[in-house]
Order: sequence, then structure tokens, then C-alpha cells
Amino acid sequence: MNCYVCDIEITADNETDEHILINAAGGRLKSKELICSKCNSDFGESIDGILAKQLNNLANMLMVKRHRGEPQPIIGNKKSTGEKYLLEVGGKPKLTKPTIDKTVDGDKTNISITARSEKELREILTGIAKKHPHFDVEEAMKSAQWREEHFDEALHFQNTIGGNEVFRAICKCATNYFIYCKGDPAQIKHLIPYIKGEEQKEIVWMHYQDNLYELRPDESSHVIHLVGNKQGGILYCYVDYFNTHKYLVLLNDNYQGQDIKQTYFFDLVNVVPIQREVTIDYDKKTLLEFFTNKDAKPFEKVKKSFDHSIALGLKRQDDHQRGELLERAIQNSLGKYPEGTIITEEMINETVNEIMKNITPYLLRGMKK
Ligand SMILES: [Zn+2]
Repeated sequence: MNCYVCDIEITADNETDEHILINAAGGRLKSKELICSKCNSDFGESIDGILAKQLNNLANMLMVKRHRGEPQPIIGNKKSTGEKYLLEVGGKPKLTKPTIDKTVDGDKTNISITARSEKELREILTGIAKKHPHFDVEEAMKSAQWREEHFDEALHFQNTIGGNEVFRAICKCATNYFIYCKGDPAQIKHLIPYIKGEEQKEIVWMHYQDNLYELRPDESSHVIHLVGNKQGGILYCYVDYFNTHKYLVLLNDNYQGQDIKQTYFFDLVNVVPIQREVTIDYDKKTLLEFFTNKDAKPFEKVKKSFDHSIALGLKRQDDHQRGELLERAIQNSLGKYPEGTIITEEMINETVNEIMKNITPYLLRGMKK
């Protein structure tokens, strides 16, 4: 088994899990029999890293589960004030940085700090104590006031898609899948210089066609659909992230390998591959036309696809936040009694009150919106 990119033999020393769809976007399908660890990390630092950045906002909103870590926060601006916020997974906004204001009053210095967490406040106070040995960190911690607000206005963020590097990353995803499906490496060999950025090709383009597959409102998925037709002499692949970023890749227009037709449909909500038909089966003429007459402005279709993902993302965040508030209310009430305590009516009333106290501001914010 050799790395299909640099042709080095894959051994125990240089083997690595290559994610066929990038893991940063929740891709789970992986194989150790595709590329070597050096090629894997080179791509991670270049084209895959750029694709990951572009897909991050949706990965965050849809709260995708990855093999490693969580999606990065979304950076957005509050419309009314322009203040920068970070939106963490689950939809919680956070200030991008703490603020420290100093005012000098005679021989006294007043410091006012806004920190985002207890840990951060303690770090800032410890820093002050280093410069001012008489400063009492514990006393200052005690005087801190904690404030929690429900965000009641829209946060604006930007989303970029496409570009040469991303097209190459999409092409690599398609070749990954072809090799994964036991395709002959010789049939995609001519694509390696393009994937590595040494050669320019026009073989990846947005592909927004209606009704390629069934999708329900509560679903989000990644899709790969690979077709190789020996008689027709074509090999191509449809790659679709979040039912939103959709691409067609022309892998070989003089295909000599085995007939192949394989679909990978990954349900991101339930984190499992599912069986779903993708109705893409083009002849050579139709396929090549997609690349000669490029649909340059499929914006309405792109927007429609985004709307689906954003609506589902907001719903998932909402469910998550209500779940968190409910859990906290129960912790604050019933949670303080030792296990095995017999629950009285009084305790139930206390719990109900706590739930109302926690959830009401959240619901009111929803009504205000
Ligand atoms: Zn390699």
C-alpha cells in the first residue's frame, strides 16, 4: 500500500488516519490506507485548513460532533453597538476579550474589570497582585458581581465560500473516496499536481441542482456520490458539506477503470451513515457542459441551502440552551439534597419556582425577538 499522493510506502511509522471528509466539519469516515502522515499534515496546514475555516460557522451552529475537539467560536458583531462577540458551540455569546479600566483618584487607583469567567478574573487579579503586593486577590474576588444576560438581538457574521484552495480540498476529498472505494490510483494520478497546487485545472465547480436527494427539515448531512463509467469514459464525484456547500468534481474524462457507483450519506444529527439515494447519473456530454457553461451565480440556490442549515442550527442551539437552563434549575433545587432524600411537595414547589426563574427570561427574550 502506497500513499496515493507522494507514492511512498505506507508503513507503521508513517501511517495516519486520513478523514475522507474533513473531521473539522464533523467528517467521520477515515482510512489508514490513503495517504502518508507527511502528506496528511501538509494538507492539514494548507487546503484542508482553509476549507475547515470556511465550514466552521456551520459546524459550530449545527453543533457537529468531531473526533477531536469542538468547532471554533463564530466571530460576530452586535448590530446596535458593533461590539465583537464570540459565539461558542451551543450559541452562547461571549465578549471577545476582558476589559480593564483604571482611574487614579489622588493616591488611590480604582480598577474596574469585566471578565468572562471566574478563572479569567482570578488570572487578572493575580497579575495585579504581582505588581502591588498589598493587593488582596481573595477580597477582590469576593466583591465581584456576576451578571448573566440573555442576548436579545441578532449577531452578524460573515461567511465566505469557494476559492482555489477550497476547490483543491474538495478534489482531494473526491480522490480520497475513489481510492477508499478501491479505485485504481492510475485513474486519478493526473490530479495530484492540481491538488498540491502545482498545476491549474477547471475540474471543480459549485453544483446546485434541485432534488438531488431527499432532505427533511430536521436533517443535516454530508454527501459523497461517486460515479465511474468505463463505457462512457467518465469518472466524477459530487461532494456536499451540510447540504449547503455543493460541488461537482470531474475526476477523469477518459476513464478506463472499473464501473463504480457509490454513495456515502452521513447524518450529522444522529452521527451515523444512512442509506439515501442520490439521483446523479450524467452522461459525458451533460457532465462536461457543467464545466464549460458554469453556473456563475447560483446565489438564490446557495441562499436556500444556507437557510435550511441556519434554521436547523438555531433550533438545535435553542433546544440545547433550554436543556442547559432546565438542568441548572434542577441542580439548584433538587440537586442540593443528598441522594435518597424523600421528595416532598415543598421541594417540588421549590423546583418549579427555580425552573420558572431560569427559563422565563429566556422565553421572554424569545418573545421580544
Ligand atoms: Zn504521502
